[in-house]
Amino acid sequence: MPLIHAICATCGVQYEASETPPEVCAICADDRQYIGAGGQRWTTLPAINGQHRNIIESVAPNVYAIYSTPPFGINQRAHLLVTPGGNILWDCITNLDQSTIDLVNGLGGIRAIALSHPHYFSTIVEWSAAFGDVPIYVNALDAEWLGRRCDAIVEWTGEQELWDGIRIICCGGHFPGASVLHWPAGKGSLFVGDTIQVAPNRKTVSFMYSYPNMIPLPKTAILQIQAAVQPLDYDAMYGAFGLYIRGRSASRHAVFRAALPRDLSVGLGLNLPACEELKQEGKHHHTQRTHSVQPQEADVGKP
Ligand SMILES: [Zn+2]
Ligand SMILES: [Zn+2]
Repeated sequence: MPLIHAICATCGVQYEASETPPEVCAICADDRQYIGAGGQRWTTLPAINGQHRNIIESVAPNVYAIYSTPPFGINQRAHLLVTPGGNILWDCITNLDQSTIDLVNGLGGIRAIALSHPHYFSTIVEWSAAFGDVPIYVNALDAEWLGRRCDAIVEWTGEQELWDGIRIICCGGHFPGASVLHWPAGKGSLFVGDTIQVAPNRKTVSFMYSYPNMIPLPKTAILQIQAAVQPLDYDAMYGAFGLYIRGRSASRHAVFRAALPRDLSVGLGLNLPACEELKQEGKHHHTQRTHSVQPQEADVGKP
């Protein structure tokens, strides 16, 4: 039987060569993802090439979004950053064909690939090989999720400078090694993957352990993400799904001022305005209502 590099049809991550695909995709079996209602499905890169093509869209000076149409897998966008020191592919998509390679080479090729987290590991080994075995930066804390490995993979921890002050910074949260990329040119740009999720209002962000399964992160993880990006200057934030925040509202202060009080109140049940109003109402006007009963009163009459 010929060997194939199986690709999970749900998350788009490619696995090592085998005669038959793995039983399940480890990434989709994890509680941050899901296996589709029809069960585990596999495909291959030639099959995807036949059904999808890629769009390379200019979204800002020297920033291109790369995504597939019709959508494939998680439907994230990779971003090509055209920098004087060489181009960076931030995150990755599964579909890679000759016309994509030609177009990207026309923009200067790729010097390095960097990943925000395992959901976008896709076909990183194919992309690296197509552009001259360029290094693939994968946070060491998440390397166990690699479906396919090659010698170009560079494992890093904490913070890693690529060149010219461009850094990838580990924030944790969504995954232990979940990261962002900071490009200081101009007023600065922050590429956030799923580490910080840009909301459709393009004003606020959120932070989740699982986006598809809607599992929130604990307060400590959100504060850790905030602390990791706090020293960075930027006026543009690029999410993984075509949602971008630009200008003053993208700054660290504005984004976190809007998001933190709301996200940190989830699960604590203490600071939500509705609860506060109810408490006030109970104290002043309706002391007999159950929600204002004091613990000592509740103990009265116990045996
Ligand atoms: Zn999968
Ligand atoms: Zn993710």
